[in-house]
Amino acid sequence: MLGLMQDRPLMISAILRHAARNHAAQEVVSKTVAGKLHRYGYAEMERRSRRLARVLQRLGIGDHDRVGTLAWNGFRHMELYYGVSGMRAICHTINPRLSPDDIAFIVNDGGDKLLFADLTFAPLLEALAPRIAGCVRAVVMMADADEMPTLPLPAGMDLLCYETLMAASDEAYDWPEFDERTASSLCYTSGTTGKPKGVLYSHRSTVLHAYAVNSADVFGLRSVHRVLPVVPMFHVNAWGTPYSAPMAGAALVMPGRHLDGASLTALMNSERVTMSAGVPTIWMGLLQHLRASGERLETVKRLVIGGSACPRLLLEAFDAEYGVTVDHAWGMTETSPLGTYNVPKASNADLAGDDLTRLREKQGRGIFGIDMKIVGDDGATLPWDGATSGNLMVRGPWVCGAYFGQAPGSACDAEGWFATGDVATIDPDGYMEITDRSKDVIKSGGEWISSIMLENLAVSHPDVAEAAIISVAHPKWDERPLLLVVPMPGRTIDAASVMAVYEGRVPRWWLPDDVVTVSELPHTATGKLHKLSLREKYRDHLLTPAPSIE
Ligand code: AMP
Repeated sequence: MLGLMQDRPLMISAILRHAARNHAAQEVVSKTVAGKLHRYGYAEMERRSRRLARVLQRLGIGDHDRVGTLAWNGFRHMELYYGVSGMRAICHTINPRLSPDDIAFIVNDGGDKLLFADLTFAPLLEALAPRIAGCVRAVVMMADADEMPTLPLPAGMDLLCYETLMAASDEAYDWPEFDERTASSLCYTSGTTGKPKGVLYSHRSTVLHAYAVNSADVFGLRSVHRVLPVVPMFHVNAWGTPYSAPMAGAALVMPGRHLDGASLTALMNSERVTMSAGVPTIWMGLLQHLRASGERLETVKRLVIGGSACPRLLLEAFDAEYGVTVDHAWGMTETSPLGTYNVPKASNADLAGDDLTRLREKQGRGIFGIDMKIVGDDGATLPWDGATSGNLMVRGPWVCGAYFGQAPGSACDAEGWFATGDVATIDPDGYMEITDRSKDVIKSGGEWISSIMLENLAVSHPDVAEAAIISVAHPKWDERPLLLVVPMPGRTIDAASVMAVYEGRVPRWWLPDDVVTVSELPHTATGKLHKLSLREKYRDHLLTPAPSIE
């Protein structure tokens, strides 16, 4: 027998309608590319999102069409989140920090019909345009008419102005209701080897994730909060804050491209921000700015730190020096992203000092909706004893089942478990701690660097016999790439000449921080590079540089 409750679909547009009706004047404040402040309430954001849906209709966007965005956190990006998904099209957020090759691949693979972009990205678009002309029919600059750049685009690709289109449109639009499993947004991950893969969220997964984010032991957003997502809207939907804040009626303060410590402090204090979320590198920059300037955070109560392991320094310093609580969280593009969140529970009430910090260094407890387990290489489930580490597997209604274009369920095993590529322990209280990564990538300042690509380029140098790229600790960027090379017999390595192979072929920030020549590299039984032992040996290389020939 089925229950007799109403079967209303979970719609993203319902979040905005709720905010517009119940929190009409609650603010969305945005720092524009030009550095000005723009502010309006949720009611106006809802009206403009409807107007945008009408613009999209007129530009020929229909059900399931992909609309790309290359944009910072700001009000027009919010309108795209709701306007595109709300009209049953798919909002495809693109990470501008990826290499131009990857961006071109992502736009073509996603099949984007339109590309919306902030002014900052005009030069990138000029280089990109000829490579995406097969699918993108128009580029819409997210700007006022008097800010429009001159941008040479290939024949057949129009250059349009967001505000001109909006002014010529109308709001006569009703948000449609449809199957909640319909795709709503698309975000590519570059976390693994090979080409980036698209994670395709649905209305259902997005709304359930927003509810979960808003539960009390997670972000716990309330209508009195003012939330500043530093984590970008182009990277896993800014951890769901564009949905969870309007759902709770909390204000949103959008920093645009101004993410340095001084800009963030000024915005946080002038806009009375109460909580914020971002990767460790951002908070390290903020901490350094506060210490150097003597400024205080006047209203911020809490910072959520995730995307990379939260350093002990941040956990301790913000609390002790500024009275700000730091919460540690873990997630991935494939998990929408929130998977675990670390706040103490009743049985931890007696913990203090170092013991408490030690607990808070862990990535946190599974939030309801996320089923978690660790397994050995043979697939056997391992105990939650806080000591045994294994491959972390997750499943749940906001976990990826298959990548874009792949067969449903193909990213999971037969029981629906998704292998995260993280290696972790789970303690008897349910706190998960990442101890290693089985996926061979480096996460620097919250963004991925592909080791395989750097290794392949290194071995293209005639003097290099074998190369390994490993991630080593860095005080600012958390992790940086270190290149280890074995010379060809009878040859010596000239580091500058090896580094020259990367010129123009990878983003500058991918370049290894150092080149170390070694006589041989360790291998596993299956002939793969034994990266774990290399990472252990060289972990502190950039903190206390060792000689570059061993
Ligand atoms: P992304 O898909 O780019 O968001 O990256 C997800 C990956 O980032 C995870 O699988 C982890 O390897 C890493 N990650 C995310 N949060 C944390 C954290 N709190 N501690 C350590 N690693 C993290």
